Amino acid sequence: MNASLISSIRERYQRVLGQIATAAARCGREPQSVFLVVVTKSQPLTIVQAAVAAGARLLGENYAEEAVEKISALKAESEVEWHMIGHVQSRKSELVAGRFDMLHSLDSLKLAARLERFLSQHGKLLPVLLEFNVSHEESKYGFPAWDETRWPELLPEVGQVLQFSHLAVRGLMTMPPYFETAELSRPYFQRLRRLRDFLAAHFPHADWRELSMGTSIDFEAAVQEGATYVRIGQAIFGPRTT
Ligand SMILES: *Cc1c(COP(=O)(O)O)cnc(C)c1O
Repeated sequence: MNASLISSIRERYQRVLGQIATAAARCGREPQSVFLVVVTKSQPLTIVQAAVAAGARLLGENYAEEAVEKISALKAESEVEWHMIGHVQSRKSELVAGRFDMLHSLDSLKLAARLERFLSQHGKLLPVLLEFNVSHEESKYGFPAWDETRWPELLPEVGQVLQFSHLAVRGLMTMPPYFETAELSRPYFQRLRRLRDFLAAHFPHADWRELSMGTSIDFEAAVQEGATYVRIGQAIFGPRTT
C-alpha cells in the first residue's frame, strides 16, 4: 500500500482527533466521549484501505451499494465499523439491515418497519439514531422538527419506532444547512440537543445518549453543543469532487 498516502491521511486524521479533543476539553468534556466517523463516501477502495491503515475505525457511507462493495473488500478488518449516514431508500433496507453496524439516518416510520422485518429475519439488533430536520430545508431528510411548538406531534411516531425490538434507538442525528461558518450551524445543534431532552422527558426508559452532528466545517461547534459522533470527510481526505 502507498505509504505516503497513508501518512498524509494519518496526519489529517490525527489533527482532527486533536481538534475534537481540544473542543471537548474547552467545555469540560472527555475527549473519548466523542467518536469520529470518517466519511468515506465517494472515495475509492484504495483510499478507504489507506484510511483504515492510518487508524480510522468508524467509517461512514451514504450509498448502500457503494458501501457494500467496500464492506466486502474490507471484511478481514474486524475492528472496523460501518455506519450508514445517508438516506436509505426502501429497496435498500435489506442491505442496510444486513451489512451495517449502525444507522445514523433513520428518517421515517416506514423505513423503521422495513428494517425491523429484515433484522428479525437475520436475528440481528441494529443500533439506530433518529434523523431530524431541524432547519426546514426542503432538501433535507428527517422527521420534521424545525417548529418547536409542534414537537408533541412527533411523539406517536417516535413511540412506535421505540417499540421495534430489533432496532436499538441510541439518540438523534441531524445535518444542518450548508454554511461556510460554523457559528451559523450552532443554533441547529442546540435545537437537536433540546429535542433530545424533550424526547428523553417523554420516553425516559429509552436510550438517548448519542447526538450525531457536525461535519468538517462545524464539528468543533457541534462538540461544544454535545455531539457524541461527528461525521468528517473533507477535513481528512481533502475536497470532494463528486
Ligand atoms: C458527506 C457527509 C458528511 C461529511 O461531510 P464533510 O464535509 O466531508 O465532512 C457528514 N454527514 C453526512 C450525512 C454526509 O452526507
